[in-house]
Amino acid sequence: MQLRELRPNVWATEVVLDEFDVRGTVIVGEQRVLVWDTLSHPRDMQGIVELAGDKPIYVAYSHGDWDHCWGTCGLKTSVIIAHDACGKRFETGETAAELAAKQAAEPNLWDDIQLVAPNRLFGHSLTVDLGGVLVELHPLAGHTEDCLVAFIPQWGILLAGDTVETPLPYLHESSILVLQEWINKLEGWRRTERVRLVVPSHGEIGDRRLITENIRYLTDLSAGKPPEVPDAMTGFYTETHINNMRLLGISSRH
Ligand SMILES: [Zn+2]
Repeated sequence: MQLRELRPNVWATEVVLDEFDVRGTVIVGEQRVLVWDTLSHPRDMQGIVELAGDKPIYVAYSHGDWDHCWGTCGLKTSVIIAHDACGKRFETGETAAELAAKQAAEPNLWDDIQLVAPNRLFGHSLTVDLGGVLVELHPLAGHTEDCLVAFIPQWGILLAGDTVETPLPYLHESSILVLQEWINKLEGWRRTERVRLVVPSHGEIGDRRLITENIRYLTDLSAGKPPEVPDAMTGFYTETHINNMRLLGISSRH
């Protein structure tokens, strides 16, 4: 895991996986530290302990997918915040099934994972006071039902989780039902002038143009029109794009 300083007291935690890169964030307040996503393995959390010093560590899950919350067992923490729907994914065994499937597919690689369920659940919005800095957590369903974004108003930073992605967002079947809501909420953030830095979990860090690009992609999909995408994309994103279009019944032969 690479730590990258985004501004004083805000660090990106970045990991390169087989098919894509994933990024979390650590925000160091005067009294406590918030770890936004624990990535995919406890070893991804080494280095954070040092950043935190003796301050208590809070964790927030951007959502319950494996690449965002499997590293928690590498931290000493007793406060794990997530959306109600994320809690349900742990409760119903969905996350355990995901782990079992990965352990079966790639023996030994995932032996160290102990799933840690969130214990501070919320449905609307939640503000976390780290001492000297507030972090607002807001639901933004779309990629999955339990997706959150985190906004740090005083520094103009939006941690977008998987709600914004480059080169393109990743849709599931459940995304179709909330596609318009996803677009509308992104539109709200796009218009929020206080947002100066957008930090997604996958792809480039940038400004609000990243949000604009994702709105354009999702709007085209929802209109049944094949969205324009870069000529050169990795196999993962080429496949994701084809799958996104298939979910909307758009033929990829254009
Ligand atoms: Zn992800």
